[in-house]
Amino acid sequence: MLKNQPGRTLHEAYLKGGGEMGQLIRDYNWADSVLGSPETWSHNLLTTVSIILRSKFPMFLWWGTELIQFYNDAYRPSMGNEGKHPKALGQEGVACWPEIWPVIKPLIDQVMAGGESTWSENQLIPIYRNNRLEDVYWTFSYSKVEDEPGKPGGVLVICSETTAQVNAMNQIAKAEEMLRCSIASANAGTWVMDTKTREFKASGRLKELYGLTTEAPMSADDAIACIDERYREKVALALEKTLAENLDFNIEYPVIAKDDQTVRWLRSFGKLYPDAHGVFRHFSGLAIDITEQKHDELRKNDFIGIVSHELKTPLTSLTAYIQVLKNKMKDDQDPMKTGVLDKAFSQVKKMSTMVNSFLNLSRLETGKIHIDKEQFGLDTLIKERIEDILLAISGYEITFLTCDPLIVFADREKIGSVITNLLSNAVKYSPKGKHIEVQCGLQNEMIQVAVKDQGMGIKQHDLPHLFERFYRVESKNTHNISGFGIGLYLSAEIIERHQGKIWVESKSGTGSTFYFNLPVSLNSGMN
Ligand code: ADP
Repeated sequence: MLKNQPGRTLHEAYLKGGGEMGQLIRDYNWADSVLGSPETWSHNLLTTVSIILRSKFPMFLWWGTELIQFYNDAYRPSMGNEGKHPKALGQEGVACWPEIWPVIKPLIDQVMAGGESTWSENQLIPIYRNNRLEDVYWTFSYSKVEDEPGKPGGVLVICSETTAQVNAMNQIAKAEEMLRCSIASANAGTWVMDTKTREFKASGRLKELYGLTTEAPMSADDAIACIDERYREKVALALEKTLAENLDFNIEYPVIAKDDQTVRWLRSFGKLYPDAHGVFRHFSGLAIDITEQKHDELRKNDFIGIVSHELKTPLTSLTAYIQVLKNKMKDDQDPMKTGVLDKAFSQVKKMSTMVNSFLNLSRLETGKIHIDKEQFGLDTLIKERIEDILLAISGYEITFLTCDPLIVFADREKIGSVITNLLSNAVKYSPKGKHIEVQCGLQNEMIQVAVKDQGMGIKQHDLPHLFERFYRVESKNTHNISGFGIGLYLSAEIIERHQGKIWVESKSGTGSTFYFNLPVSLNSGMN
């Protein structure tokens, strides 16, 4: 119980503190109001006002028949910056809240008349503040305060404005709705998989896309089993890579419906998502039907395949004729004739490499690329390919930091084309006179090859795209350098089919180092 302190009246002791609102309440000319001066206020009114002023929780009080208003500093921001505050202090409720009076007056009356206290959660009560009608959400409770036992005094409102939370929730709901619409309009199937238990949940549309019944559950293994077997390992590997290394999942593959054997091409995008503790527990994504687009692409690839195939035969004959002529003329004394022949030979070889890449591209896209593995020394292959390149170019120095004989079990021709591609790019994208260095050796139980140049280098933002099909860096430096942007794509596909990795480190203007690695042959030395 508060005691009157020396030099202070009782009501002054009750009304002390309370920040801005405490000051305004003390300064208010209550004597001219219906409540009269604070000395005349009932003990309960003084106590309630004192509780309001001390509370850090937003509180508001309507007192007396006229519902005269009090509120605290915590409530004050809900009044906005212009309009209501500070007029609302000491004002009659009906004058302060005309816009919501029809909603709240019945609640006030019901509580004053002895009804139960109210509880409303996230209720929309638009109020006029900041010079406009604003949609404001509140969670609040109205409870009766007695003036003296048995006599209603007023209604205490303890409330909290929840506009920010409700708006955030609405935004999430809207975003979800938009996402649902996009998924529906793309006719996409969706899935979510627990990364730990591998529990897999598929939408009805995803089951349809895989040619499965929508009634039965679908597991990740069911999905993999529907994939054309030529692509199954690639998709399974990509999935394991996503789960192990948190990489984005983005892959195209054909699925074969169980019932009628219909082939459908799908493109799947997925990602790992963290749970509330930041652990990447969910792998989720969507799949869309790209059959039409894929058929167009396959027709184009077939065309490229046929043309390259047709070009290959005359080119092979041409190479042979030039080689015969070169042999015949090796003792010729006319340097002009032998020089021209050498140039013709190098151009025909260039063209053969190009035609071979197109042929490989079309084989790859139609799933017809074959990897014929054999055991061979990678160091010997690198030497051969360097010698080949040096025959066709001038003005570059290529050093090979030879290593111990390294035996791999791989497709010699295709790994050779990867080495040639990296070497010819190092030459193509470096000015004459620059040095190229090739290294190979054992790294983390893999055989690693590095081709390092001192050329133009690659900008950071191009790096992630270099191994994509048809990707070429567009800049004034590369403007006059011809190419199709398929060499690195093919190289990456070839290396991936050997369970290896290909990557690049580069600094624009300084040079690039392209790396690839391959598993060491487990059968080394057996035959
Ligand atoms: P192409 O050389 O036929 O365009 P690639 O697939 O071999 O195709 O290379 C893709 C792109 O990567 C090239 O267009 C080039 O911009 C960039 N690139 C490849 N190798 C290098 C290199 N050693 N230095 C700088 N840029 C390179």
